[in-house]
Order: sequence, then structure tokens, then C-alpha cells
Amino acid sequence: MAKKTQKSDLRKDPAYQELVASLTKVIDEAYVKGVDFNREHFLNCYACGCVEGMTEKGSRTIYLKDGTVAALDVDFRVIDIKRRDYVLKRGGIRWRTTYLYVCGICGAEQKVCHVDEFSKQEPH
Ligand SMILES: [Zn+2]
Repeated sequence: MAKKTQKSDLRKDPAYQELVASLTKVIDEAYVKGVDFNREHFLNCYACGCVEGMTEKGSRTIYLKDGTVAALDVDFRVIDIKRRDYVLKRGGIRWRTTYLYVCGICGAEQKVCHVDEFSKQEPH
């Protein structure tokens, strides 16, 4: 992957810095509410078909392909998380989170990329 010099220039842009500050604030507030930003996405396994989901009690759990709940001590093991953000021309930031993880059910190692967007209301 080639590094773009354009990106470092964007980071010096006050509008960009303002967006980052806004985004940081949103994340901080979410932290206070107890959102796990270490793992903000649900993962799933492409090998055995299990998926992560939220229980009625609001905790994270894994459902097997047939819909049954996996044992409580089973979890996806995240090896690496990479995050890249991009400034959108129409305002806002799009960020890509790439997870490298091992399925707690079948042990398959896989990589998945989630894309999120943070749009800011027009300030003017
Ligand atoms: Zn699996």
C-alpha cells in the first residue's frame, strides 16, 4: 500500500481537525455509555457460519449456524484491528475497520472489513 502525501496535508486542515474532534467526542460519550469500542462490530465466521449477536440482556454472544447459543466462554479472538479514516468531500469522515480474527468455534482465521461513516451537519 502506497502512502499518500495528500493525507498528511488533510490532517493539517482545520476543518479536518474539527471533524476529528467531533468524532472523538462522540466516541468518548459512547464510552461513557459503556459501548465497547475495542470491538464495535459484531463478527461472524465464514467457515462455520456462526454469528455474533446481542442477547436480550444486552451482552454479546455467539450463535451457531443452527441458531443455538454457543458456550459462554467461546469468543472470537481478535488478533489485529486496523483503522483508517478518510475525509469525505461532502463533509464527514468515513473509516474502515479491518479485523483479523480467529473463530472461537472452529478456529478459522479470517479478515473482515467494516466501513462506517460519520457525517457532520453543515456548520454554516
Ligand atoms: Zn468458525
